[in-house]
Amino acid sequence: MVRILDEIKEECGIAGGVLKDRTKNIVPYLYKMILNLQNRGQLACGISTYNKERDFLILTYKELGSVNEIFRIQNPKKTEAIFNEYKGSKGIAHTRYATSGVARKEDAHPFERVHGRKYKWFSLCFNGNIANYSELKNNLLDKKNYHMIFNNDTEILMHNISRTINVLSKNGESPDPVEIFSTLAKKLDGAYNLGIITAEGKLIAVRDPLGFRPLCYSIDKDKTLFASESVALRQSGVNNIKYLKPGEILVNIGKETRIKRYSPSSRIAHCMFEWVYFANVSSVLDNSSVYMARTNLGKEMAKREPLDVNKKEYVVIPVPDSSKPFGDSYAYEKGLPSREGLVRNRYVGRTFIEGHNRKNKVEEKFTVLKEITKGKKILLMDDSIVRGNTSKKLVKYIKTKGEAKEVHLRISCPPILAPCFYGIDMSTISELFAPRFFKKVGRNVSKEAMQEMAKELGADTLVYQKIESIPKAIGKNRDELCMACLNGNYPTKWGENLYTIAKDNHKKGIKQRAYECC
Ligand code: SF4
Repeated sequence: MVRILDEIKEECGIAGGVLKDRTKNIVPYLYKMILNLQNRGQLACGISTYNKERDFLILTYKELGSVNEIFRIQNPKKTEAIFNEYKGSKGIAHTRYATSGVARKEDAHPFERVHGRKYKWFSLCFNGNIANYSELKNNLLDKKNYHMIFNNDTEILMHNISRTINVLSKNGESPDPVEIFSTLAKKLDGAYNLGIITAEGKLIAVRDPLGFRPLCYSIDKDKTLFASESVALRQSGVNNIKYLKPGEILVNIGKETRIKRYSPSSRIAHCMFEWVYFANVSSVLDNSSVYMARTNLGKEMAKREPLDVNKKEYVVIPVPDSSKPFGDSYAYEKGLPSREGLVRNRYVGRTFIEGHNRKNKVEEKFTVLKEITKGKKILLMDDSIVRGNTSKKLVKYIKTKGEAKEVHLRISCPPILAPCFYGIDMSTISELFAPRFFKKVGRNVSKEAMQEMAKELGADTLVYQKIESIPKAIGKNRDELCMACLNGNYPTKWGENLYTIAKDNHKKGIKQRAYECC
């Protein structure tokens, strides 16, 4: 996998739905929902639909590429042919970003497990990361004589779901999905949002008991839809959006949709990064608006501004697109202009960027507007510094090509000091920028260290958000959020285990991911 810049990426968006009128086709809805989840992955996408009139009760279509590429939107006849070929009144869909391995069609979701018995035949799509992946995998390999083809946590989930169905099914009858996931929840550690369709025509959505990743749904008189983010439902024309609570399952059988609790929640741990960076700015997650969270982060940053900024010398430039509400609200609070001094080159395709080993991908991706930056002191507003490469290149680019006098970095996320084991692509300490400047995770960084960090990035000054501002900006209590990558406090046992391994690896100079080492 070649990274585009050093952006952090999340693994995947999921969606699914059922139409009450069985003669109608869910595929256009699935297409539209994953199109609106492309911020969560553009490497591959796919759908599985259920249609009892077909021999193939479940039919799966998946390919590498963006949603519009795969559904051939440039060619309406081909799009229509795909919509018709996979027609069904129920289905699930997925858009994928891979965090490891080469890009292969086989790794795209949904993962379908075909079986002659209808209750054992299902298709699955997944968003998250199973922290105890290695434990579950070893258990299957050593004790149960399994063979792994894909070596990813989706495969582990698929086998574990099948095993649980086998154990629970009595006299060849299909077990209750609530019972299946209540049994599985005792084994799984980590983030897992799932969409499942079975050959009996059951549609299922599951949110893990800690609720790391977002999942919402809408039930109206014609249809039930679910998706990772509310924007996907809103763009599909539904308004009555609700949030599946951590530990809840949505099950549609026939014309009835039920929401049930399948597992107790020891605590809630929504990923704070969803609001800070990942989620679509127009989404509302668990009743908290992404746009408002980013706007609040800008207000908080304005309170921390150490420079005596003024309109004559300073210009605020948010890094497009996710930093715009942060930058705009900071500028508003300080009475400064917020300008589009960096323009994102939206038409440079992903394949083009990945296919060329260009020296400076920042210049491929952004154009600096010298008419805004020349001779000015720039307040460059960005959402996070993960590996530091992009920030370094951006600062240099604005200074050299944009002829800015100074560049001051203002970062809406506090320093990222620890890896993520719950589905965000930053899983080793050595790849992170900030840890080497901190004596201890959870401690404040010294003024000298902050100056050193700014110097390393080529910036004149650097100011990070304070940890305390994150829950406040999102509008959640601190104990409802996962902030483990900021403070090292992992909300699950396997998160803690992997962090110990990651620290040990870091000391020994091992760059492998912690969950691949155990
Ligand atoms: S460790 Fe960080 S990125 Fe990962 S789930 Fe927790 S808050 Fe999100």
